[in-house]
Amino acid sequence: MGPLGQQKPMRSPASHALAYGATLACVALSLLVVLLIQPEIAGRPATLLFVPAVIVAAALGGALPGLIASGASVVGAAIAIARAGGFDTASTVDLIVLGAIGLASSWFGERLLRARADAAARTAEVTEQSAFLQSVLDTVPDAIMVIDDRGLLLTYSPAAKRLFGYDADEVLGRNVSMLMPSPYRDHHDAYIERYLKTGERRIIGIGRVVVGQRKDGTTFPMELAVAEMRAGSGRYFTGFVRDVTERQRTEARLHDLQTELIHVSRLTAMGEMASALAHELNQPLSAIANYLRGSRRLIDRGDADPGVLGGALDKAADQALRAGDIIHRLRDFVAKGEGEPLVERVGKLVEEATALALVGAKELGVSVRYALDPEADFVLADRVQIQQVLVNLIRNAVDAMEGTQRRVITIASAPAEGGFVEISVRDTGIGIPSEVAERLFQPFFTTKPSGMGVGLSICRTIVEAHGGRIAAEAAPGGGTIFRFTLRAAPSEVHHE
Ligand code: ADP
Repeated sequence: MGPLGQQKPMRSPASHALAYGATLACVALSLLVVLLIQPEIAGRPATLLFVPAVIVAAALGGALPGLIASGASVVGAAIAIARAGGFDTASTVDLIVLGAIGLASSWFGERLLRARADAAARTAEVTEQSAFLQSVLDTVPDAIMVIDDRGLLLTYSPAAKRLFGYDADEVLGRNVSMLMPSPYRDHHDAYIERYLKTGERRIIGIGRVVVGQRKDGTTFPMELAVAEMRAGSGRYFTGFVRDVTERQRTEARLHDLQTELIHVSRLTAMGEMASALAHELNQPLSAIANYLRGSRRLIDRGDADPGVLGGALDKAADQALRAGDIIHRLRDFVAKGEGEPLVERVGKLVEEATALALVGAKELGVSVRYALDPEADFVLADRVQIQQVLVNLIRNAVDAMEGTQRRVITIASAPAEGGFVEISVRDTGIGIPSEVAERLFQPFFTTKPSGMGVGLSICRTIVEAHGGRIAAEAAPGGGTIFRFTLRAAPSEVHHE
């Protein structure tokens, strides 16, 4: 068994020696008294003088010393009777009574001794258990507190002291609500009362993130788990508290990094596009300039042959068209990316994109609901690009709901006409004013202080390159719905 295991009651060798020593001493003393003084009771030797010796031996040493003392006493008494003139009925009865008392005291003595040893072992066990519990309380990194059904603190672990800054004697016996800020502080008693009355669990056995308040008045997010315990007639609640400031900080940082990454990748893509564009356009533009300058010189000299002039202007026009082609090709390149569209499942695309877009947004109280139609699950899509579209739309939705009370994003899919699937992202945000709606998909249009205004324009380029369409509309009841379509995958492909 472990440290809390039971132990058998044991008698130490020292107490053994004492018991036997006392036994012999008592019997010897009684024998001495009986032989030297020869006291008599009712004319017979006072054999009952041995009784105290027998009782003391049994009480101190238990069965064996008691029996030894009884045997020795009976022998001693018999010697005394023989010396005082021999046995008669009365003195024989005395001897038998002495023997019986000896047996009975030995039996009681043994029981007494065992009971005493048991009690000592139990006390040791309880002491050991509470030391063990105390060491657990002292070392567990989570703060642990126990309150009674009135909310008064009974136990307050060292980790709790480190977390809240109060010493144990400042909080023990006081209401646990002192460790939380208003308005929870004023309502905590009512929370316990309601639970005791209705049995409805809001936190017990469930656990959640709540706000704690330190001695210096600062507050911090903490994860609280509560367990209920009944002991005797009382009900107690044990709270386990963990400071999650660090975790939330990390998540927020991760969230910032994520946003930064999206911005950087947009910037890089645009930077690459811009430099390629500049490089490729340089050639036709300088050709156009040369043709026009040449034509100008011909006109200045006054001998412009209309044929030559017309030829130069045609060539300039060709170069201008070539420049237009380059821009088109680049746009297609940006939109198409590397691969051809493959059969993808809408459910998976949406799920992964949501996870990517919402890192860190959970604690902001945004909830995401899905209304995905299984009949519209297969689409032809470039996974990375369509996820980029979804991430943009979801992040815009989160941004739009920053100041609103209700923060719900609903992502839905449904079959659309002409072999398409429509995916929509709906928010409960501030909505889009009409002057913004007109310019929504224009590159570099933004209403955000740190916005780039390229998200929606990239979304449109990607969706159109997939053969679909994208549009925004006001959601009934407030907020915005962005809808875009993708080609549904041909049925023979998804049976494969
Ligand atoms: P950015 O997000 O960098 O501003 P976008 O092209 O993604 O660039 O968005 C352009 C603008 O469209 C935003 O600044 C915002 O004003 C508006 N917008 C986009 N999505 C929403 C939405 N869900 N609700 C309200 N306004 C939106």
